[in-house]
Formats: sequence, structure tokens, C-alpha cells
Amino acid sequence: MPDLEDLYREVILDHYRNPRNRGELDTPPAVRAEGFNPLCGDEVIVYVQLADGIIDDIKVGGQGCSISQASASMMSATVKGRTTEELRQLNRAFKAMMSIEPDPADDLSPMSGNGADIKLGDLEALKGVVKFPVRIKCATLSWHTLTQALEEAQATA
Ligand code: ZN
Repeated sequence: MPDLEDLYREVILDHYRNPRNRGELDTPPAVRAEGFNPLCGDEVIVYVQLADGIIDDIKVGGQGCSISQASASMMSATVKGRTTEELRQLNRAFKAMMSIEPDPADDLSPMSGNGADIKLGDLEALKGVVKFPVRIKCATLSWHTLTQALEEAQATA
């Protein structure tokens, strides 16, 4: 399947050129978290609005390489409207795809029965990044920042 990498590249470039959920939210009620990847100079800002345990709204800002910004766009499109439990599963599935050991903090609640149904969708386009270990931090930056924002949201709830 020689065309798969081209397809992945197209998905990444599409998110980079047309980032989803770009912007800001009012804080409060939303929370804001900022992530920085000094290895590459990537910056990701995540605004999250929680409502009844659901990611009601999410906006992303920042600047950096195509991988970091495309990943942030994909992350925002994937998690919007999800419950925080689904989000934990997505986070775990994404990190597993990126060959990262799960953070114990991600495992606070047991994986529910339908965990296998979690689909990464466009995020699968980032699979190829695993071959370039130095870029993995670019791809996971937005997820770390989202986790930070949710901790912030739970702390202020
Ligand atoms: Zn980067």
C-alpha cells in the first residue's frame, strides 16, 4: 500500500492548513492551558469548556511545526462532544499508537467494556510519526496540554 503515506500526509497538511476549532474561549467559564515543546519550538494553547462531564466546546491556538498544529486540530475535532471517560480512552489509544507508556494518571478509571470501539479517525494519520522519535513530542503536545486543561477544569469545578 504505497499510497497510504501520501494519504496520511494529505490528512496532516489539510489539518495544518485548515485547522479545526481554531480560536479562544472566555475564561471562565472555560479553562485555558498552554503547552510548549522546547525541542521543536511548538506551542499549543487549549481552551476547554466542560458541561456535565462532556467536552462542550474546545478551541486551540498556538504555533509550531505542521505535526504539532495538525495534531492539535485533529485532537480538537476528535474530542469535541465526548465524555471525559471517552477522552481518557482516546488519550490512551493515541499514546499507545505513539508507543508511549501510559501515564498512571490516565488510568484512574478502569477501561469500560466498549473501549475497543474507540476510533482514532484522522489521528491515525500521525502513526507514521513513530518512525521519527524526535517528532513524537510534536504529535503528543496537544494531548498533554488538553490533559492539563482538564485537570485545571476539575480543580476549579
Ligand atoms: Zn514540532
